[in-house]
Amino acid sequence: MTKQEIDPEAGLRLSAPELEVARAILVHGPVSRADLAQRLGLSPASLTRLGKPLLDARVVLEHDLVLDGSVGRPTRLLEIRADAEFFIGIKITGTQVQGVLTDLRATALDSAVLELASHEPAAVIKTVAELIEVLRGRENGDTHPKVISAVGLSIGGTVTGHSLVGRAPFLGWRQVDLGSLLAERTGLPVSVENDVTALVAAELWFGSGREAPNFAVLTTGAGVGYGIAVHGKVISTPDSGLGLGGHFPLDPQGPPCEAGHRGCSTAMLAMPSICAQVSTVLGRELDYGQVLDLGRVGEPAATAVLLASAAALGRFIAAIANLAMVNTVVLGGEGIELYSLFKDRVHEAVVADRDPEAGQVTVNIIDPGFDQWARGAAAVAIQGYAFSRSAAL
Ligand SMILES: [Zn+2]
Repeated sequence: MTKQEIDPEAGLRLSAPELEVARAILVHGPVSRADLAQRLGLSPASLTRLGKPLLDARVVLEHDLVLDGSVGRPTRLLEIRADAEFFIGIKITGTQVQGVLTDLRATALDSAVLELASHEPAAVIKTVAELIEVLRGRENGDTHPKVISAVGLSIGGTVTGHSLVGRAPFLGWRQVDLGSLLAERTGLPVSVENDVTALVAAELWFGSGREAPNFAVLTTGAGVGYGIAVHGKVISTPDSGLGLGGHFPLDPQGPPCEAGHRGCSTAMLAMPSICAQVSTVLGRELDYGQVLDLGRVGEPAATAVLLASAAALGRFIAAIANLAMVNTVVLGGEGIELYSLFKDRVHEAVVADRDPEAGQVTVNIIDPGFDQWARGAAAVAIQGYAFSRSAAL
């Protein structure tokens, strides 16, 4: 018997190879045994042996017979029972905590938001704990609150050891052991991660990463975020949470950012900078939605700023693809509508900065909406704790 990887108090005790099989079925399912065996480098006999406890515990379901094109004979596809476990993901911003309840596939089943009354760590943790209770269903008078396997938290800042927040500028925090404090208060396993890294983790298992082992995630909103997965692994370093993709030079004619860089990624792509440029020219305060509306109807000042931003976005995507050697770039964040509106300009700029013989760059979009961030946090919890409680249900 190999080393047990999970909590000995949990119901289903999986060995490390069994856990690997379960995770592969979760990420790639519905999947045939032949495909799974190939992905994991296992013989059919080993796969049958390792999959048995999962089928017995009804964590994995076997579908009806289908014709598997790769082997040319009928096979049964394997799939994880998504409602075998539930997780909560919460994004902590400077003003709110935004949460989702998800199943094992990080599908959001419910969402809720609470306002933060204070940035004091104790007050934030109290609000997060209240949000967990809301999402479990207790607040709605549900007599059977959901059993939660784990909680994931994401935050704009640096995080080490999935618990310690080193620096979170939006909250004014330094060295807050958020994960341990929340775990103590709720009795639940807690994982904390930088918000963009969490988004990369969610894409790796439940989005673009299912097809592309190498990809980058680029977010635009209040700021600019950048993260990357290589060979099927999220790249995370002590500096990942510093937002180092935020000041990449993109346009020597562009406006300056607060740090004084002319035409850096924040100056060209962050929503406040785009709004400020158009507001200055038109002499009135405009929010991002209004700027986009003006761009849609071809108002010249707004259109000029948005086209320059779209070209800068394309240039950034090409630079990422060229330097990080990824052919898939996933766009997310609240500012992503710029891409939808001026897609042609973005792609022109990508092509202009890319060797014509290089592979085509695929641009994918994360569904807009506030819960994309909370769902990222849930994915981190799923990756850390999936299948540790299944048989208890
Ligand atoms: Zn800058």
